[in-house]
Amino acid sequence: MTPAMPLPSSRIPAVSLERLAQNRLLASLSAAERQLLLPGADIVELAADTLLVDSGDDVVSTYFPISGMIAALVLVMADGTIAEAATIGREGAIGGVVSAGHKPAFARTIVQLPGSCLRIDTARLEAAKAKSPRLHDLFARYADALLAQVLQSVVCNALHPLDQRCCRWLLSTMDRVGSNELKVTQEFLAQMLGVQRTTMTRTLRDLSRCGLIRQARGRIIIQSREGLEGASCDCHASVRRHFRRILPEVPTRP
Ligand SMILES: [Zn+2]
Repeated sequence: MTPAMPLPSSRIPAVSLERLAQNRLLASLSAAERQLLLPGADIVELAADTLLVDSGDDVVSTYFPISGMIAALVLVMADGTIAEAATIGREGAIGGVVSAGHKPAFARTIVQLPGSCLRIDTARLEAAKAKSPRLHDLFARYADALLAQVLQSVVCNALHPLDQRCCRWLLSTMDRVGSNELKVTQEFLAQMLGVQRTTMTRTLRDLSRCGLIRQARGRIIIQSREGLEGASCDCHASVRRHFRRILPEVPTRP
């Protein structure tokens, strides 16, 4: 795993209201509300596998993806194995929103797919929420939508077969990245879905044979979104429906 903090050389100082609006959650705010978040915000380029928050850490920064960057909340077992509980992209935020301030994090947060992120001190975000009921309401509703995703994952992992779960993962990642080409390896996907690499290889081969995906070195290319939706369980669609109901002003797709 790469170092816990973003690379200092990758810091880009200029943050504008327009850059804030590249995150879909922040884009739903008025310019005056976004202005509350501008002081102290910076932009960081995050490499894949960067550790953003570890279990037990105080959440001192909140991250807002502004590109195809995706982070995963993962749970670490006593034997060191990990599995994914939720993923977050441009439609959301990572950190203080969910833990509501400087509380210790329960899950580990790692960067799944690299990209740009706004970073805002959690204390500043909390102060802005105290000033603006609209900000407070937006983040409360986002926390509810994220909880729905986590709850759906629990049921999905317990009830649905791996091929359906894999299709669900590919669909949700495709929506967040905004591309049908995903830079993920079989090994990484196996880890996120909590299965053996050989099992993952078989499942991806079956999806390839059905013409739903194509595999290249370190990449999965989605050939048929409709086909994946048909082969997936309803969990992705269900989470999206709830998100749209709770946060109608925030698009879930590019
Ligand atoms: Zn499912």
